[in-house]
Amino acid sequence: MLQRVALLLCLACLACLSGCNEPITTEPEDFLSSPEFVPAEQNVILTLDQYQDFKILDPAWPDFEVAWSRSAFPNSIGPRYRYFPATYGPDTLLATVVYPDRSIEHPWIINVPYPDPEVRFIPPDSTIQTVETLPLTLRARTNRPDISQYVWTRNGEAAGQDSTYVYQALEGGSDVIHCQVTFAGEVFAKQWQIEITPLAEIDLPEVTNIQVNRTYLFGEIQVSWDPIESWYVPIAEYRILVSLDGPITQENRNLAIVLETVPHEGENPNYMVTFSAEEEQLTPEALTWFTVVGVDERGSTSPPPDTLPFQIPYYWYIEGRVLNLEGEPLDQAEVDDSFSHYQVLTDHEGNYRIGPYPDSRSVILSASFSGDNGKFVVPNGFHDTLSPPLTSDGDHRFDFVLIPRFGCDPGCDVYAGDFIFYLRKMTSTWVPQDDRPNHNLYKWDSYPLKIYIPDYTSSTGIDFGEATRQAVQIWNNKLGENFLVLTSEESQAQILMEFGQDSTQLFGLVVLCEPGGGLYPLGSMIPEKIQIFLFNSITTQENAEVTALHELGHALGLCAHAACHDVGYLMYVAPSMFLENWPENAVHIDELNAVRTIRSLPQGVDLSNYISE
Ligand SMILES: [Zn+2]
Repeated sequence: MLQRVALLLCLACLACLSGCNEPITTEPEDFLSSPEFVPAEQNVILTLDQYQDFKILDPAWPDFEVAWSRSAFPNSIGPRYRYFPATYGPDTLLATVVYPDRSIEHPWIINVPYPDPEVRFIPPDSTIQTVETLPLTLRARTNRPDISQYVWTRNGEAAGQDSTYVYQALEGGSDVIHCQVTFAGEVFAKQWQIEITPLAEIDLPEVTNIQVNRTYLFGEIQVSWDPIESWYVPIAEYRILVSLDGPITQENRNLAIVLETVPHEGENPNYMVTFSAEEEQLTPEALTWFTVVGVDERGSTSPPPDTLPFQIPYYWYIEGRVLNLEGEPLDQAEVDDSFSHYQVLTDHEGNYRIGPYPDSRSVILSASFSGDNGKFVVPNGFHDTLSPPLTSDGDHRFDFVLIPRFGCDPGCDVYAGDFIFYLRKMTSTWVPQDDRPNHNLYKWDSYPLKIYIPDYTSSTGIDFGEATRQAVQIWNNKLGENFLVLTSEESQAQILMEFGQDSTQLFGLVVLCEPGGGLYPLGSMIPEKIQIFLFNSITTQENAEVTALHELGHALGLCAHAACHDVGYLMYVAPSMFLENWPENAVHIDELNAVRTIRSLPQGVDLSNYISE
């Protein structure tokens, strides 16, 4: 049965397409039943918001099928059909009634009459305010767009023939747009007066959400902001402005420094710029105003938003040199800050620079040098050396003076072969004492030392003056440089020799006269004047020389006494009078190294910063 219906529908289509509106019927003579078509009238009038029910009745022969087609297209089956109009104008509803042996077609002509011609102009206002470059869409809406004709003019000149006209104000001023619509023999018209505000008269929107922050890197600043999302002209770039003189305003923004220019890259990116305060030459600690303005492709600039001042982070570097005892630069010496993992090498002038550091930190640097850079070859290298704690509000400069690993006499195992230990013991800087509360080395401010030696010969015939002059000669010879020079002016002398007094305990004695007037032990402060006594208890000329030699050793900075007596130290508490090859071996090499080192080190240097090994 379905196949049959389909075939019939097909025929019906062909019939209609061929222009035939009459039903095709095949009616056998012996079949008398006839359906009733409701409504009976073939012409039906509707409005767009109405509907109409159609139905087929045949009480005599209910076993029939109905196929409905609308506008020649199959639409539904069954005895009833509810018709909703889709558009204005005529339409054909065709019912094909199928009996077992025949079929009957019945058409209805349904008409939805057109309404009265009507046009709506959008926007309805006759005067429109707009902004230069802003697109403006004007429309004419008719209830017969299929037959409507549109003529648009702009200031009297033809501008378009569509139902819609997109207007773009090219510059300030005013325009007249006219639209005429013709259909169904009627003419409708509308005129708009468009007032255009020039862009020059309005401000770009401000850049929003400006933030200025430090980053985790010292001295680095980050500026971020949100893009300008909507403006009549494309945004070209953003400018980060900086002022040290207060907030940046529309009036003073030309005086602000343009720190950086960043191209606009769409509305969504997260604009974020980082830079080094030092490279941008921003003043550490200064209150500084940052703001960001947008610039459009015509060069117009957005007003600078109010921002709070930002304090430029303070950071600092430490600079200095690394030198040997002769004051010569050590090239490629290593300077480390193990806390920050900073490590730098000196240049050929011995200079280093390390940092940056945040304001709050206290820094201890260490310097080391292997002892062989092709220029200075020191067999065992140098002792690693620390700086004192360096802080941002203190001196930012520190010069290291490195001490070679001289070693010391293995015969005196008290010092374990370590020169720094030996040096600190001999300069009384190993353990702080009540009258010597730190590890600082206090030495003469200037060399050579002027010594005043009066003439004196004891009652036993010992020439003390001559013995002292011999001792001076021996020290200078052994050191290879004049550490001591004679002066005939007692008032100019740093070392005053005193002869002729008696002692039952001592051969000699050294007293720090200035400063302190004899109250303080040697080495506890910077010496200005000392006295050396050689007593009449000395009974041989050689003993006078050895005693003078020993006391001059104290004067040259060896404040303490050596721990061993059997390796040939002059500075043992009672020096051996039986040195081999006297006087060539009168002073031990460790003592010469120590006296030279004391002279070369910086005044007041903390000897605990030299690493003992
Ligand atoms: Zn002594």
